[in-house]
Amino acid sequence: MDTQIKKVLELARAKINSAKVVKDLDQAYIEIFGKDGLMTVLTKQLSNLPQKDRPKTGTLINQLKKEIEERLKKKRSSLTARRSLPSIDITAPGKKQEIGHLHLVSQAIEETVKIFSRLGFSLQSYPEVDWDWYAFGSLNMPKNHPARDDWETFFVKSEINPKYGSQVLTPHTSNGQVREMERVKIPPVRMLNISRCYRRQIDVSHTPMFHQFEGLLIDEDVSISHLKGTFDYFTTNFFGPSRTTRLRPHHFRFTEPSFEVDVTCGVCQGLGCRLCKAGWLELGGAGMVHPKVLSAGEIDPTRYKGFAFGWGIERTIAMKTNIPDIRFFYQNDIRFLEQF
Ligand SMILES: [Zn+2]
Repeated sequence: MDTQIKKVLELARAKINSAKVVKDLDQAYIEIFGKDGLMTVLTKQLSNLPQKDRPKTGTLINQLKKEIEERLKKKRSSLTARRSLPSIDITAPGKKQEIGHLHLVSQAIEETVKIFSRLGFSLQSYPEVDWDWYAFGSLNMPKNHPARDDWETFFVKSEINPKYGSQVLTPHTSNGQVREMERVKIPPVRMLNISRCYRRQIDVSHTPMFHQFEGLLIDEDVSISHLKGTFDYFTTNFFGPSRTTRLRPHHFRFTEPSFEVDVTCGVCQGLGCRLCKAGWLELGGAGMVHPKVLSAGEIDPTRYKGFAFGWGIERTIAMKTNIPDIRFFYQNDIRFLEQF
């Protein structure tokens, strides 16, 4: 009988150990304790033994039963614990968190402000709905001058102020010029004004709302070479060291002399291509502040001189990244925006 007990233990142990899932263990239980199971058969044999041997063997069988039950219990808890653990493949590549970023117009604004702040320009903010006086009158544009139509301005229904006139959505950031002179009162002035502007135009190079930045520097002994140097500093920092600028004579009411500023084309590096034709791309306008504008800001034009410049942020981005249509900026197409 002892040999049989040992054999049952061995067989039961083997069945329990080989169980890979809980279901296998259930099957092992049936094979051990079921109707024709190993233990059941063994226990039945007890009645065949002589009366005197029964208690001793009975105790052994009980011990065996306990041991097998213990083993089953342990195995069951180890199998269920393993099942409840999430399976982790530590060799799998990590999941990247999707993080957004600033719109490319905001990025360009931040970069522009950073470049000019190194030259001592500080960022100011002026109204986007402003009086006719600041948008036109103070900038040497007489009433009914056709220049007011050039910009296809949005006029705002408002009462006419006897001193400042009607109100407009600012078609440029130059409305900040005289406002800045009034704020500072005594030069030096080194202003950067970045703001939204509005014009009734929409095509590949225009959107009805766009961003412009305006620089204004007023001091004693300011010359065109300072203006040129400031542009070159901006251009090499914003577009890269291979790009350069040129000033081309032009006419604006609020600067004298006036220039258009060109930058070498980024596609052909100034050699001439389909986009630029002669190697240059027009960046914006600039010039020496007109004495009448200084006077409008109550600054003495016989003592102080200044230069001013301005251009569209969207245009500078398009020139830097060779985007063919600036309307892309405002279509909110994530496939486009994700590229920057
Ligand atoms: Zn080119």
